[in-house]
Amino acid sequence: MHEMSICESIISVIEQQAVAQSFDKVNMVRLEVGAMAGVELEALRFSFDVVTRGSIADGAKLDVIELPVTGWCMPCARAISVRERYDACPDCGSYQIQITGGEELRIKEMEVD
Ligand SMILES: [Zn+2]
Repeated sequence: MHEMSICESIISVIEQQAVAQSFDKVNMVRLEVGAMAGVELEALRFSFDVVTRGSIADGAKLDVIELPVTGWCMPCARAISVRERYDACPDCGSYQIQITGGEELRIKEMEVD
């Protein structure tokens, strides 16, 4: 389950931040997760609870913002967002889409003490 290693790297980022910004308790972590990041959200939440146990983020709430797949539709010549990688443009139905985003996985913000 690679969500476990994702959470481990999230915790190490949080711990580095804790040293740099001298906080010692994390109450909430907000993540941005792209639709193409390949992350199972339920597994992510479970792993987060396991990995944060006994850490600075013990008991922290995990808030996930799901980002859509974004792309550039060539016939429309504008940015669009679609639900999945191989969806057609919602406006013109074209598949000539250049994917520009949707693989994000990053900490958006944290609430700390
Ligand atoms: Zn289009």
